Amino acid sequence: MDKNTLSELHRIFQEVQSKPELKSALDILFLSMRGFFVFDNVAIYLGDRKTRGLDIVYARAMGRGKTAEADAAWGESVANDVITNEHMVIHGPLDDTTGRDRMSQTYLLGIPLYVGATLRGALLYVRFGGPEYSELHIHTASLQAIWASALIERKELQEARAELDSVQRQMRLQDDFVSTISHELRTPLGFIKGYSTSLLRQDANWDEATQREFLTIIDEETDRLAKLIEDMLESARLQSKTIQFKFSPLRLDALLRDVTARVRTHHPKLEVDLQLEPVPPVLGDGVRISQVFENLFSNAIKYAPGSRLTVATKTVNGRVRLSFVDEGEGIPEEFIPFLFERFYRVPGERTVTGTGLGLYICKQIVMAHHGNIWVESVLDRGTTFFIELPADPTL
Ligand code: ADP
Repeated sequence: MDKNTLSELHRIFQEVQSKPELKSALDILFLSMRGFFVFDNVAIYLGDRKTRGLDIVYARAMGRGKTAEADAAWGESVANDVITNEHMVIHGPLDDTTGRDRMSQTYLLGIPLYVGATLRGALLYVRFGGPEYSELHIHTASLQAIWASALIERKELQEARAELDSVQRQMRLQDDFVSTISHELRTPLGFIKGYSTSLLRQDANWDEATQREFLTIIDEETDRLAKLIEDMLESARLQSKTIQFKFSPLRLDALLRDVTARVRTHHPKLEVDLQLEPVPPVLGDGVRISQVFENLFSNAIKYAPGSRLTVATKTVNGRVRLSFVDEGEGIPEEFIPFLFERFYRVPGERTVTGTGLGLYICKQIVMAHHGNIWVESVLDRGTTFFIELPADPTL
């Protein structure tokens, strides 16, 4: 190999490596080596471990002829042949009658792809109308196959690492959850036990106002405990997908008015500005959707205390969009991607009680309605939760 070729290969190698994404790395690999080896189309087939079929993970038309997508079908039987027999396949045109359109004469080259020591798929090249593949071409193609395998392995490792990170985070959250939940369960129980024991003391003569005060605390703490247990059961049911939703046409503006009125009975000072544009009905489970709204109200009250809350509805591209805007402290950007995960709570000083289940529950319910929920937040300005639901198609 001469010096120029070597330095050209070195340059290509560096450029390919610099592309973090598989598809763009393969694009550079195949395009920049066309100086050594010309072909019209290239495709990569990988065996799917679950379905045992072949997936086309990359296809590209470089030269004459059709589009990459249309072309990928030609290689499937050759790819199967390469994989079944674990060897390279070289095909001349199947029908070589002279006088026919040169473009219909396909020259195929199939090379096995190994990821680690395992045969995982095939790399296929096609040339329309020849020429036949020379020894040099086959060597270059084999080099590209080894290279492509390394890039596929790199992608699979990246995916495995991301999955591992997510599992590790989930395990950490579970650990935190156990300590959070023990605290969250013990606190209301402690109040209930303490105040009821006090009330029952024979020697204490509580006046009526004090008795009422104690009973009110017991009542509120029982509600808190009930809500906590309900959230835990609900999140377990949603995770195992054992909840039956009862869908019917819903008017979200009416539902929002009801929930707002309910929340106000408990929080008379809460300032809520309802900006409800008329929106089409959605197909939904009224009880569950109310639960989502209640959670968002409750979060705004907890995390943006004293702030005004603006709740708005509008139609965007045929979907109904709701927004819950508070003017609280906001959420630092780095925590936003995790907010809807089960058990996740923004780290930091904890003065507000919670379990990290509320937003997870909201997301599962909205997803069961084929909707979306997301958040935008600006520090010291406030937080907005958006929900988008498809309009009822039957109306
Ligand atoms: P919990 O309230 O039980 O902690 P959630 O799942 O409802 O759990 O919320 C997850 C986290 O998101 C909360 O711990 C809180 O830090 C943050 N959060 C939710 N809503 C708001 C809001 N309106 N403003 C600021 N932070 C919020």
